[in-house]
Amino acid sequence: MKRENDAALDSETVMFGVFGYPVRHSRSPVMMNAAFRSLSLNAAYAAFEIKPEQLRQAVAGIRALQFRGVNVTIPHKVNVIPLLDHVDQTAKEIGAVNTIVNDQGVLTGYNTDGIGYVRSLKTETACELKGKRILMIGAGGAARGVAFALAKENPERIWIANRSVERARALAADISGLCSCESIAMEDLADIKHADVIINTTSVGMHPHIGEMPTDAAIFRSGTIVSDLIYNPLETKWLTAASQAGARIHSGLGMFIYQGAYALEYWTDREAPVSVMREAVLGSFT
Ligand code: NAP
Repeated sequence: MKRENDAALDSETVMFGVFGYPVRHSRSPVMMNAAFRSLSLNAAYAAFEIKPEQLRQAVAGIRALQFRGVNVTIPHKVNVIPLLDHVDQTAKEIGAVNTIVNDQGVLTGYNTDGIGYVRSLKTETACELKGKRILMIGAGGAARGVAFALAKENPERIWIANRSVERARALAADISGLCSCESIAMEDLADIKHADVIINTTSVGMHPHIGEMPTDAAIFRSGTIVSDLIYNPLETKWLTAASQAGARIHSGLGMFIYQGAYALEYWTDREAPVSVMREAVLGSFT
C-alpha cells in the first residue's frame, strides 16, 4: 500500500470509504486521506451516498471491489449487521457497527465510537474514569456505544437521562450488568448533585440549531468535566455555559478523530497520525 507519488492514484491504490445517507457533509474523507498521505500509504477514501434499499448491494461491493475497509454511518449502523460475516463482541453488545474490515472477502464489523470517545475523554482531560460518577444525557445510538465503553472503565455509577424515558431505562438495564447504572427522569436532574462527569449524547445544540441546550445550565458545578459529543459547532452553547460555570469542557471533535483513528489502525495495523487527522478536520471548518 506504499504510494510513490503523493498526489496520484494508480492501479495499486487500496480503496476505503464511508457509507451513509446523507453523507456529503462527512469530514471522514478529509481526515482519512490526510492520514494516508502522512503514513505514505497508497490508499484513497471517499464518501458514498447509499440509500437504505441499496445497502445490501453496497456491502457486496466491498467484497467485489476489494475495498480494505469502510466506515458506516447513519442510517446504516444497525441494518448492516446481518450483512457481515463476523461482528466483534462489543459491537454486538452495542447493537451497531461503524467500521468494517475486509480480510480477503471476509467482512468483520466493529464499533469504534464508544472506545474512540473514551480515548478522547481520557487523553484530552487527563481524567481517570475509575470510581467516577457519570451523568449521561441521551440514550440514542451514540449513547449506547459511549455507555458500554464508559462502563468498562469501572466508574462508581452511571445515570442516564433521556427525553424518552423508556429508552433511558432500556440502556441502563443493558449497562447494569457491567457497572452500577440507573435511569433518571430529565425533571430530576437537579437531584444529581455530585456528578464528576456530565455528557451530552443528544443532538440538541448541533448545527443548525446552535441556540438550543439539552439541559438547564443550573446542573453545572465548578470543577465538573462537561463533555458534548457534538463537534459542529466545535463548542456548543451548552459547553460555553458549562465553562462559564467553572466546569472543564470537552468537545466531540476528539471522539470523531479517535473513532477514525481506531478504524484506521484496524485496517492498516499502523499507529494513526492523530494530530494530522485533527488538523485536517479543523482545517475543513475554516
Ligand atoms: P440518535 O440515535 O438519533 O439519538 C438522538 C438522541 O438525542 C436521543 O437521545 C434523542 O432522544 C435525543 N434528542 C433528539 N432531539 C431531541 C430534542 N429535541 N430534545 C431532547 N432530546 C432530543 O442520534 P446519535 O447517532 O445517537 O447522535 C447523537 C449526537 O451525537 C449527534 O449530535 C451526533 O452528531 C453526535 N455524534 C457525534 C459523534 C462524534 O464522533 N463526535 C459520533 C456519533 C454521534 P429521544 O430518544 O427522546 O428521541
